[in-house]
Amino acid sequence: MTNDYRFEFRPYQRKFLRSLTTNHGKWDIREGIILRLTDESGKVGWGEIAPISWFGSETLEQALDFCCQLPEEITDKIIFSIPDKLPACQFGFESAQEWGSEANIITPNFSLLTPNSLFYSALLPAGEAALNQWETLWEQGYHTFKWKIGVYAIANELEIFESLIQTLPAFTKLRLDANGGLSYDEANLWLRTCDNFKANPELPLEIEFIEQPLPVEQFQQMLELSTSYETAIALDESVATLGQLASCYQQGWRGIFVIKPGIVGSPSRLRKFCHQHQIDTVFSSVFETAIGRLAALQLAAELSRNNRAIGFGIDHFFEQEETWFQSLWNDL
Ligand code: MG
Repeated sequence: MTNDYRFEFRPYQRKFLRSLTTNHGKWDIREGIILRLTDESGKVGWGEIAPISWFGSETLEQALDFCCQLPEEITDKIIFSIPDKLPACQFGFESAQEWGSEANIITPNFSLLTPNSLFYSALLPAGEAALNQWETLWEQGYHTFKWKIGVYAIANELEIFESLIQTLPAFTKLRLDANGGLSYDEANLWLRTCDNFKANPELPLEIEFIEQPLPVEQFQQMLELSTSYETAIALDESVATLGQLASCYQQGWRGIFVIKPGIVGSPSRLRKFCHQHQIDTVFSSVFETAIGRLAALQLAAELSRNNRAIGFGIDHFFEQEETWFQSLWNDL
């Protein structure tokens, strides 16, 4: 697509099939904005703005205000100068501008978005429940699991971890995500424990990394930990936006970066950054709908290195995407 576009948008609300519990509380309804750009030749591009303000993006209100003040006709110049304080808008508009360069797609092809579980990481429930759930997921084809830690007392979690390690099949990859919830001593204990497992040649599975062991403010401690242990550390909350990502890189971070394309900001600048610095990335969802997911998965396919599974749920979080989409845009 090039030049001038007719710009339209629709706010949406979608109920999660199961409500999601995060350390910021319960999440029942995903709210966002679907946007449509139509160029002079009639070619259409779709985009999604799916903010998560508690993770570091703009709020839905800020995104809506931005959309409301735009004229009905917009240009590339407007799209590529969206301010950095609106990262989810940068993603939504740029992905609409890039949409379907290979074909004139009027409605999104939802069958293209059927994921292959081999390339995806599956989320295990926190605590003991993980022990009863991995098997079903394994049978569905998942070989990479993420388990949340820092939820229960560390002694208890270490015990469950031991059982988990003993029961998971060979070639499984396990990620531990603390969501910034460990103390410095606890982080050391987890890393030491993982290093000990790594040193055991009989262990047939791989502990891939520990994600965000400490809160965002404790970057220097995480940097120090990342050079003190064999087990890799991935930053997630610390690198929500491109600005934070660049700043961690400049301060010396050479571990893994979790990238949530939906809120990280401009896809073109993300590409440039990844190509320039060859960073080790893991891509992850912001519970966007199929529109945002398509753009995010394309970026992941383009920029993932080191064969890392991506964190997009295979069992869809919402019902009947296609029907929902057509009801949102009733002129289709
Ligand atoms: Mg995480």
